Amino acid sequence: MKAEIISVGDELTSGQRLDTNSQIISRRLGDLGIRVGHHTTVGDDLADNVSAFRIAASRCDIVIISGGLGPTADDLTREAMAEAFGQPLEFRPEAMAHIENLFKSRNRSMPERNRVQAMFPQTSRIIPNPHGTAPGVDLEVLVKDSQNMDHPSRLFALPGVPAEMIQMLSQTVEPRLIEELGLGHQRCFFHSVKLFGLGESDVEQVIPDLISRDRIPRVGITVSKATITLRIAALATCEDEFQSLIEPTLAQIRQAFGEVIFAEGDLELQDVIHDLLDQKHLTLSIVEVGSGCWVGQMLSEGLEPNKPGGLKHLAWQPHLPASATAMDGNSPSLADLALESKQLNRTDYAMAVGVYPPSSSFPRESSLPSTELQVAIVGPANRATLKTKSVSGHPELFYQRLAKTALDLLRKELLDE
Ligand code: ATP
Repeated sequence: MKAEIISVGDELTSGQRLDTNSQIISRRLGDLGIRVGHHTTVGDDLADNVSAFRIAASRCDIVIISGGLGPTADDLTREAMAEAFGQPLEFRPEAMAHIENLFKSRNRSMPERNRVQAMFPQTSRIIPNPHGTAPGVDLEVLVKDSQNMDHPSRLFALPGVPAEMIQMLSQTVEPRLIEELGLGHQRCFFHSVKLFGLGESDVEQVIPDLISRDRIPRVGITVSKATITLRIAALATCEDEFQSLIEPTLAQIRQAFGEVIFAEGDLELQDVIHDLLDQKHLTLSIVEVGSGCWVGQMLSEGLEPNKPGGLKHLAWQPHLPASATAMDGNSPSLADLALESKQLNRTDYAMAVGVYPPSSSFPRESSLPSTELQVAIVGPANRATLKTKSVSGHPELFYQRLAKTALDLLRKELLDE
């Protein structure tokens, strides 16, 4: 089963409002095991709506439309459905009664214009809208597909107002999909594997056979703020079935990437550091030189005050001591800073982060910033491990990449502990 979601409204095509309905509907269909193949957004124009509905019905088994069911002249969904599938609109007294009652219960008289909301394509069924004046439309059609073969498609039109749309989806559309189309015995499950330190194409090169589109389970790659996520997806009846289905794929990914994988699930690098510190009952202090305090900021996100272990102290020094500015990659003063911080704050670990040249001298808007990141990590034995990495990237993401690089070096050090 393949579905298309159509969002209708000039406020969406003009960029004034973000189409959140499609995201919600996609997720809900995924939970019923229905793959969404298309998201279409179309403005308040009759001809455009007619063609969008026809195209969707010819290529998908299920079409969910949101918006355009209001009473005003720019609400065209009912009319477009009728025209697209050659059906006259007919008056439904039961829909009218509901709309009139709604106005009565609000002590308001019903404008004549609202009568159009009781008009339905001839063979369609009503989708009740308990809290709104716009009932939805459920229409089954038979159209020609791209091979000119008969193709049945089921269209559900819901109002654009997110609260009404969601209620009608839960109360009527989903039960009809389950009971009448036999869907819902399987749903889409996902498992994420997070990687840091490789580029997107490097990742694809390592596992080209896993990324193929018609593979089961499907593996997709997404990149966000220098973190790569491999998303494994499959239809299954329950979590256990899904886990055993993905086990060979997961084993292949784990073997291919080893310690480049920093987490599975929703964790970020900073969460992994907190978990490692918690598990090992360790405390940590950080000194940052020239990195805009991004490592500390990232580590402080979501931090619970007074949590045992975890981040003990953050210190930031805006300027490098003169001896540390020598670009020798092994600056002893960074190690000294880490040691000093560890002793001063009485932590088990300390990390000093140094950026060469200091970030304040980066060209902000011209070429891509690029720098040498140095990290000194001092552990319980008071010995410093020095690591150096070149970091470059888009100015908007540069500091996040820098901070994540430092956190990843710390993660590997803590894992070796
Ligand atoms: P209805 O059929 O309920 O009249 P409509 O499209 O005519 O729907 P509008 O008056 O355009 O409704 O929108 C009602 C509200 O719902 C507005 O706040 C609008 O921004 C919001 N809305 C409409 N479509 C979406 C969407 N796809 N995602 C998020 N919000 C939406």
